[in-house]
Amino acid sequence: MLVVMKQGATPEQIDRVCAWIKERGYTPQPMPGAQRTAVGLVGNDGRVDGSPLEDFPGVAEVIYVSNPYKQVSREWKHESTIVEIAPGVRFGGTDVPIIAGPCSVESEEQIVTVAQQVKAAGAVALRGGAFKPRSSPYSFQGLGKKGLELLALAKRETGLPIVTEAMDEAGAELVAEFADCIQIGARNMQNYSLLKVAGKLKKPVLLKRGMAATIQDLLLSAEYILAEGNPNVILCERGLRSFDTTSRNLFDLTAIPVVQQLSHLPIVADPSHGTGRRDKVLAMSRAAIAAGADGILIEVHPRPEKAMSDGAQSQTPEQFAETVVQLRRVAAAIDRAIAS
Ligand code: PEP
Ligand code: MN
Repeated sequence: MLVVMKQGATPEQIDRVCAWIKERGYTPQPMPGAQRTAVGLVGNDGRVDGSPLEDFPGVAEVIYVSNPYKQVSREWKHESTIVEIAPGVRFGGTDVPIIAGPCSVESEEQIVTVAQQVKAAGAVALRGGAFKPRSSPYSFQGLGKKGLELLALAKRETGLPIVTEAMDEAGAELVAEFADCIQIGARNMQNYSLLKVAGKLKKPVLLKRGMAATIQDLLLSAEYILAEGNPNVILCERGLRSFDTTSRNLFDLTAIPVVQQLSHLPIVADPSHGTGRRDKVLAMSRAAIAAGADGILIEVHPRPEKAMSDGAQSQTPEQFAETVVQLRRVAAAIDRAIAS
């Protein structure tokens, strides 16, 4: 339930609404907006009748949020949320940041080299997995803590903020010490214990859509994180499982405008996992920018043929540099800009 205050409502009037909510055992959540303040009632399972509030001084209207997801919905918050993962690196505004880097952190030489390369080409954040969710237990599982330390080194060398994955509750706190933005991968999108932990950590979260998840599933998973008090969630479309074997996944670009209509949270596109083939990444990055993505995530490896994971979809540094040049043009065509 959302209590929308009139423009110019006084702090005392807002306090009265908050007190009424508290008296009923719920937590009020005042949200000052550009035009007016709204007060959310978190956790209403339909039992609270808000009609008495309509007569309170300063109250404009009481809205019952109809979607199963509440705090992530545009009904709850009309203005788009801007998630800042490091000073100046913002998702959800006019500028579109690019996150780039290898699938996995493999060595000091690899991560520092590629960090410098993607920075020179125009990326504003570095990605790289230290804990890798692999389909096979015999595949490379990541360097673990050592990988996080190498990411920290690459950050010191380049200044790029770090996006890296937390795979489980036990490791999430350690990842949060090193990450500027914690990635929760497609396979973990419905790991509700992990989502709750991520909601308590004070770091932005990049939440990837599960490979068989509906958009409602994705938004409900984001709701877990917001419900624990962390408003800084960036959603990510990374492709769905399909019957067609010509690409690794079916990259659902429609998710971008759909999510932007339903939610105020920013949505990033990942054409690397979305296609699985490096020669398709340029075309689908351009398409994602044109569709309105609030950020792009691209896997880049200094020597993709030697990569320990996702080499087939990793661009070379040269391909990535050309991609950024082209994305600047597409962004300009829709009155946006690639963040620099
Ligand atoms: C990744 O980003 O390398 C990754 C494992 O992604 P996803 O969870 O989308 O498969
Ligand atoms: Mn990968």
